[in-house]
This record gives sequence, C-alpha cells and structure tokens, in this order.
Amino acid sequence: MESFSELPLLPALQQALDNAGYVRPTAIQAASLGPLLAGRDLLAQAPTGSGKTAAFGLGLLQRIDAATTRTQALVLCPTRELADQVAKELRRLAAGIPNLKLSLLTGGIALGPQVASLAHAPHVVVGTPGRVQELIRKEALDVRGVGVFVLDEADRMLDMGFEDVIRDITRRLPRKRQTMLFSATWPEAIREMARATLHDPHEASIDAGEDAPRIEQWF
Ligand code: AMP
Repeated sequence: MESFSELPLLPALQQALDNAGYVRPTAIQAASLGPLLAGRDLLAQAPTGSGKTAAFGLGLLQRIDAATTRTQALVLCPTRELADQVAKELRRLAAGIPNLKLSLLTGGIALGPQVASLAHAPHVVVGTPGRVQELIRKEALDVRGVGVFVLDEADRMLDMGFEDVIRDITRRLPRKRQTMLFSATWPEAIREMARATLHDPHEASIDAGEDAPRIEQWF
C-alpha cells in the first residue's frame, strides 16, 4: 500500500494524517488497516517505533460515534509512560473529530479527580490495567458499550503480573466487539490470551528491522 488515500478512512482521519505529515503507511499499518477497517480482530507482532499506535488508533477512531456519550473504545497499556504516549497520538489523530473525548486513566494519580472526570463518559479510554479495573469496580467507568478493545504490548503486561486483571476486565466487556492484541513476543501465555480474547483474527507480523531505518529519521 503506497498511500493512506487507498483506505476508506473518514475525511477527518485523512486530514489528521496530512497534518501529522504521515505520507506513507508503515509496514504494520499497511498490513493491518484494511482488515481493521473491515471490522476484523487483529493479532499483531510489531515493535515500538513501527507505527503500531496509529495502526490501532485509526482502526479504533474510525468506529467511534462521537454523538453517543458512551465509552466505546478501551486501550490497555503496561505503563503510565506508554499510556501517555498512546493518548497523545490518539488525540492527534482525533483532532478533527468534533466533541471526541479521550480519558487517560493510569495509576500514580489521585483517584478522586479521575472519578469526577468520568461523570461524562469519554468515548475513548487509554489506561493501565490496575487503575482501569479499579474504576470499573467503583462503577465510575462503564465498559458495557466498548466495541473496540486494544491490548498494547500484551507480553509486557503479562510480565508485570496483569494477567488476572486483564481477564477480569475482558470478562466485563461485550462479547461482540473488535479486539486487537499487540505483542513483541509469543510465549504460551500470550497465545492463550489470544485464543481467549480474539475471534478469527487477521495476523500481521513485522520484523524489528523492517521499518526501523526510516522511522529513526523521525526522532
Ligand atoms: P509507534 O510505533 O506507534 O510508537 O510510532 C513510532 C513513531 O512513528 C511515532 O513518532 C509516530 O508519530 C510515527 N509514525 C507513525 N506512523 C507514521 C507514518 N505513517 N509515517 C511517518 N511517521 C509515522
């Protein structure tokens, strides 16, 4: 795929890509966006720096109905830092979607203001598993309308001991949804998680080196 214009993306997302200066899709974007926009689940092996955030971000934002005040997408990341970066990239891509609300829900930040900020449900939540679980349990965050679920750096989340927390969160989501799982490595626990959470996924695997030289120039 040579250009994003080959994809049936919303005009607001095409515009955001232009504004960001993204001219050509990276390998993971080219390999995943077609199936994602068609509603398929995704199982992807893509390292940081591959452009994986925009891959799942575009797939996710395309499906948000900003006129409906309900949490429709949930992205889980292993660390506060990664969640922060993901939220920044999603906000950039969503800039042209009127009234879209995104909340960053991570630990290490006072719970009270986070609960208050959820009085009006955000369309998109990006967070770390522990805090997201806590907010669901407190009934501050309602995930019963989540139609898109992203597990970013799933292997790191398992390494950090989040397996049971992720299982608990997943159990509370609608069964009918689109799920994307990104992982750099494939231990048995990840394959098990993929079997339990994905339905007939499209598979995309990108070598660490494939996009690295080009992407490095961007930093
Ligand atoms: P990620 O792997 O999602 O952390 O992305 C790595 C970097 O690549 C980020 O700084 C993005 O802004 C940038 N990026 C993502 N997609 C593209 C693209 N199609 N063209 C140029 N840069 C991109």
